Amino acid sequence: MNVLSFLQVQGCFREGHTAFKNGLHSGGWLEKGEIVRRPDLLQQLAQQQAQQIAQHWPETTLIVGAPACGAVLASFVGLELGLPVAFAVTGQDIGWHRMHCPQAGQRAVYVDDLICTGRDARRVLAFLRYEKHVALGVSAWLSHTPLAGETLLTLTSAPFENHPADHCPLCQQGQPLIFEGVRE
Ligand SMILES: [Zn+2]
Repeated sequence: MNVLSFLQVQGCFREGHTAFKNGLHSGGWLEKGEIVRRPDLLQQLAQQQAQQIAQHWPETTLIVGAPACGAVLASFVGLELGLPVAFAVTGQDIGWHRMHCPQAGQRAVYVDDLICTGRDARRVLAFLRYEKHVALGVSAWLSHTPLAGETLLTLTSAPFENHPADHCPLCQQGQPLIFEGVRE
């Protein structure tokens, strides 16, 4: 499966000068809602992630996701792998959703769809270690960061490059913003 063409065919691509909520600029972004609102499409990506996780971390005992979309995705991946899930709520304070506070010593993989700066992923990994689990790494559709120091499995590479606003080539060319306040 070519995941990038899959995302394109399903209408996820939003091409044009973009300003993200986090301050970064880009030549476009991905609307993951085109996938997430269709369980049959989400399942196809979850199956790819499950295959990667099974190959790379056969010792996994727990799949972790962050509400809302990340938790749904985690459940789909967990279903494919026959593994339980737990949801890390990443508000101001991070903690487990009360439906499952896993016993210490799990070998956990954090599952996400699109990773931008990796800030949330790093918070979840740190939380897992604080809770005395083995945080094996991260599985995502694609990522704008290599998440240095951690193991990151992705299905494809990012189609649009992100830049700090003051180094944005499109701004330098004087191109107006098409999308503003975007959170992928
Ligand atoms: Zn720009």
